[in-house]
Amino acid sequence: MLSLVVPCYNEEDNVEDFYNQTVYAFDSKIKDFEIVFVDDGSSDKTLDKLKKLYDGDKCHIQVLSFSRNFGKEAAIYAGLKNARGDYACIIDADLQQRPEVVVEMMNVIKEDNTVDCVTAYQAERKENKFMSALKSSFYKIINKMSEVDFVNGASDFRLMNRKMIDAVISMGEYHRFSKGIFSFVGFNTKFIPYEVQERKSGKSKWNFFKLLKYAIEGIISFSSFPLKLSAYVGFFSAFVSVIYLILVIIKRLAYGVDVPGYASIVVLVLFLGGLQLMSFGILGEYMSKVYDQVKGRPIYILKEHLSEDLLRNEEKQQ
Ligand code: UDP
Ligand code: MG
Repeated sequence: MLSLVVPCYNEEDNVEDFYNQTVYAFDSKIKDFEIVFVDDGSSDKTLDKLKKLYDGDKCHIQVLSFSRNFGKEAAIYAGLKNARGDYACIIDADLQQRPEVVVEMMNVIKEDNTVDCVTAYQAERKENKFMSALKSSFYKIINKMSEVDFVNGASDFRLMNRKMIDAVISMGEYHRFSKGIFSFVGFNTKFIPYEVQERKSGKSKWNFFKLLKYAIEGIISFSSFPLKLSAYVGFFSAFVSVIYLILVIIKRLAYGVDVPGYASIVVLVLFLGGLQLMSFGILGEYMSKVYDQVKGRPIYILKEHLSEDLLRNEEKQQ
């Protein structure tokens, strides 16, 4: 069976279309499937729409609903955890990723049993040059800093077999950065190009600052280089100041008393103060991640779960 994991946050105008297009695209090609809709605390009518869909097609739909907005990463985690399929595919609800591509992915993974995961990557980014240049440099930086590989343009749109699903679920970290997690767990991944569609309806939930926060989270979660960086910078500035000290002593011995070095002292004090604050900041980022993890709070909280299996279990108990 194939489980589609669909995170939905305020997608009231998209979920029905998504369902219809998926059923249409799968037609006779994929018969055994379920759609796991995860309502990520939407504030619009998304949940009502999902319930309606569920009532119309109980054997193909599960609906999970969060008590509040926990973010797309949490929604993906919840969806994968509740997926019953031998395969699972993560796909957005806004129809930017066409369900036809899922059929293609299924063919690839079934043809070659050494492939554990099929990932769709954007052949070309359909966004402004500035954003796409920023994103490319993010990938360059994180790949230099981190031991796991990040592929530029690879989305969360991917199909995995059961082995990989279980591995991804086993990573119970609170701050989830899927791109890193998928690459951390390893397995044999095949990349296929796909074309991103325009958003069907509504707005993207990402803006520059959210993306920046996400990028920093990715770096902190999968690299300790920034921590080392502050140590390197510290060593370097200590080294430079020792050289400066030697120069001052030589000057003093050669030329006698110098003019009072007010400017250089102020510059040095400010510079070192800045470096120290920067290092504290980096330390703080890691500390806060450790703190969040140690608290052991759940990654998501369910308000409702609609599923045939649950219904059957309840009937059995009665
Ligand atoms: N999403 C979510 N929780 C959030 C933000 C987004 O579940 O807090 C879902 C959203 O409903 C969509 C997918 O994640 O199905 C991708 O979001 P979006 O389209 O805003 O991102 P983009 O396609 O612009 O990268
Ligand atoms: Mg989108």
